[in-house]
Amino acid sequence: MIRNYDKLIFELSKEGRMGYSLPKNEFEGYCMCCGIPAHLKRETTPELPQVTEFDVVRHYTNLSNKNFGVDTGFYPLGSCTMKYNPRINEEMAAHPAFTQLHPDAPTECAQGALEVYYNLAASLSELSGLSAFTLNPYAGAHGELTGLMIMRKYHMLRGDHKRTKVIVPDSAHGTNPASAAVCGLQIVEVKSTAKGTVDVEALKPLLDDTVAGIMMTNPNTLGIFETEIPEIAKLVHECGGLLYYDGANLNAVLGKCRPGDMGFDIMHINLHKTFSTPHGGGGPGDGPVGVRAGLEHLLPNPQVKKNEQGIFYLTTDEESAGCVSGFLGNFAVIVRAYTYILTLGRENVKMVGPLAVLNANYVKESLKNEYYLPIEGVCKHEFVFDGLADKSTGVTTLDIAKRLLDYGYHAPTIYFPLLFHQSIMIEPTETESKETLDEFIAVMKKVAQEAAETPDVVKAAPYNTPVRRLDETTAARFPKTTYKQMKG
Ligand SMILES: *Cc1c(COP(=O)(O)O)cnc(C)c1O
Repeated sequence: MIRNYDKLIFELSKEGRMGYSLPKNEFEGYCMCCGIPAHLKRETTPELPQVTEFDVVRHYTNLSNKNFGVDTGFYPLGSCTMKYNPRINEEMAAHPAFTQLHPDAPTECAQGALEVYYNLAASLSELSGLSAFTLNPYAGAHGELTGLMIMRKYHMLRGDHKRTKVIVPDSAHGTNPASAAVCGLQIVEVKSTAKGTVDVEALKPLLDDTVAGIMMTNPNTLGIFETEIPEIAKLVHECGGLLYYDGANLNAVLGKCRPGDMGFDIMHINLHKTFSTPHGGGGPGDGPVGVRAGLEHLLPNPQVKKNEQGIFYLTTDEESAGCVSGFLGNFAVIVRAYTYILTLGRENVKMVGPLAVLNANYVKESLKNEYYLPIEGVCKHEFVFDGLADKSTGVTTLDIAKRLLDYGYHAPTIYFPLLFHQSIMIEPTETESKETLDEFIAVMKKVAQEAAETPDVVKAAPYNTPVRRLDETTAARFPKTTYKQMKG
């Protein structure tokens, strides 16, 4: 049975019902019933649902409970790193000293906030082995664009205008070629080997004096560590290009190795993945960009600096790649990331990578009889199955993802990377307990068993969600959000 408060708020509307009334305004020139100045009042009443306050409270509270989040259940979304966000992060981010600071406040009134920015940038430099960071970009993709603008500016300032190509591996996250295109660069794809790593032999013929650089993700989107990086770095640098590191999910290597030491020149990090801020539906995020020594002046304006007296100030550099954001990044995300690093401390940050890798390998090895593992061997923080081991019943990756919703799990990333037809990409993260992983493994095995014994049950899933299978594109592109659209 559909409960009243499971309905859409529009459906609860009853002519003349009211949730709230304002005191009568008896002054001249104002509307008696709502107090709005008469000349500002609409001529016709807007079409809004007419409901009681109680209806509204129940409606939105129940709606919030239908939302799946990392606080409600396991979220094994590969390539997205949905990890636990300690509550102290939220407390710090909500501190009035930060939330009530005006973005245009003069720097002498914003010293504390600038110190947080400066110290986080310094921590990221140390963790990644790069010389300097900007925290200004608002997301991973925005960081990629910023990094590529730096790459382009670097070549331009040397008068090397021919370099318009960026090499991107076929396993790359979709934002890599998209950012390169937005930056006005041409994309050249390099193939992966059967082991899932960049094919050095395929790379060699692509390297010439038109190459601006290469974008790499390590571990790559298959969760595999790129072992040929020293060779790749040598080849790309010899041809005059730069190496860009997509460090969206840096948790696999945190505390173990550093992109700067591998030979990378520019990188971005997703604070909203590696450093805990949960994200969904496009935000909130922050995508700091780091550069090796010698490229610092190309970072976007403004930059946060500290003088000898310990005073923080902003600088702009004429040679900078530009300005990429209105203010100094997504500040609340910066506060959360800084809090996260401080609460872990130097010792525990080193455990992030090993635990992320252990958890991923534990899940992978436990499920590889039921699900087809196209690339064997030790993975890093995530791994990819190519559908079920037994595909004879026609149960697809989409069916498996839908069935997991019935069991209270967020679906893994599906149909990405594009290297396989039935990709299921799983990232447990370092913050889950063995018990949670064991439960997930048991459910994944159960779904595989159902697929073999009662495939039609899996093909028609989900059953327990508020809505069943949707046309997801239409639902996302053309949501009906107003009373008028509902009625029309
Ligand atoms: C998430 C991700 C990105 C893009 O980050 P956004 O913040 O979503 O723009 C880029 N590369 C990789 C490998 C990612 O996982």
